[in-house]
Order: sequence, then C-alpha cells, then structure tokens
Amino acid sequence: MLEILIVEDEKPIRELLAMNLTRAGYHCTEAADGIAAANLLEHHTYDLALLDIMLPKINGYELLEYIRPLHIPVIFLTAKNTVDDRVKGLLAGAEDYLVKPFAMAELLARMEVVLRRFHKVDSHLQYEEYQIDLDSRRVVGPKGEVPLTPKELDLFVLLVRNRGVALFRSRIFQMVWDAEWEGDSRTLDLHIQRLRKKLQLGDRLKTVYRVGYRLD
Ligand code: CA
Repeated sequence: MLEILIVEDEKPIRELLAMNLTRAGYHCTEAADGIAAANLLEHHTYDLALLDIMLPKINGYELLEYIRPLHIPVIFLTAKNTVDDRVKGLLAGAEDYLVKPFAMAELLARMEVVLRRFHKVDSHLQYEEYQIDLDSRRVVGPKGEVPLTPKELDLFVLLVRNRGVALFRSRIFQMVWDAEWEGDSRTLDLHIQRLRKKLQLGDRLKTVYRVGYRLD
C-alpha cells in the first residue's frame, strides 16, 4: 500500500483528505504543522507528500527544502492562487500544485500521475485478455484497441483495480463521476452495459443484487 503524508493545519480539510485517500486505497499519515511533519520524516518514508503552504511553525516551502533530499515527491495544496505563487511552488521543486478548493477526483488523478512518474505505481494494468495503458489511456484486446469514452475507461480501471470486490453503486459513482450519489443509477447502469458490450465481459461483470457491480 502506498504511504501518503498529509501536512495540513486545517483539521476538517486534513481529515477529509485522509478519508478520501484511504477510501481510494492509500495509507495516510497526518501532520498538523511543519514540525510534526519533519519529525515524522525523520523516522518514516513516504511515497508522496501533500503539503499545505501556509502552515504554523515551518511553512510548506521550508518543509519542501527538508523533504527534497529524501526524494519524496510533493504536491502543494494551497489557497494561494496567484501566478507568482504557482511559479514559486514549482521552482521550489514541487511536482504539482493544486489550488483549494479542488475536486477530490482531480487530486487523485494528479497524485496518480506523480506516482507513476516516480515509478511508484505501474502504468500498465492487465485484465485477462485486455492490456490497459494508463499513460496513453488505451485499452488493447485481442482484436486491437477498444475505443472507450473517458468515463468508460475510468469505470473499467476502477473495476479492474477492485476485481473480485462488490462495489456499491454510490461508491462507483463517487469515484468515477466525482459527484454525490442521488439514487439515480441510470448513468452508471448505461456505462456498465456499454462496457460489457465493448469489452465482451458478459458474465464476468456481475450485477450484485442491492449492492452494485463486481468484476470477476
Ligand atoms: Ca494552512
């Protein structure tokens, strides 16, 4: 499991991040200020750090100086959104920069790009006869490339990563559409039908009564 360090002094934001990243399959450690983060970094290693810039005691830029020799990629999460601040964050050696408020799906996507760049995650997934290349976002089967829409691809990747697990409709909806579930499953069900057809998944993509879907 990939280890993520979250450094953020605002407790509700920190807890929301930890909850969502845990749900997405990461292991999270939280620090409420720069000193606490530096102490953790002395004894533990992380695959990625999410840093707020305006932090008590040691700010995000100073903390980045401390983290850089440890070869831990950093994404800044900050309310500051002037061009100067962006440039400063990137010049300081951060891999990416997100301005609050941001959508959780965007953070997850950017984290994945950074983690792939640092070879923390494989950019290739395989499901039986299909090869998925996450960098080029292509799915190749025995008869060549299968054209999928962006949402169909996201849905397939989610199912493949959770194969054998029954996923709740609400969870799938939240992960793929980054929206709250309002009980209407038509969009999701339609995408599932198209995936079944395009990838000839048939019975391998099961409807789980009162839950949602499971890829076997
Ligand atoms: Ca802050």
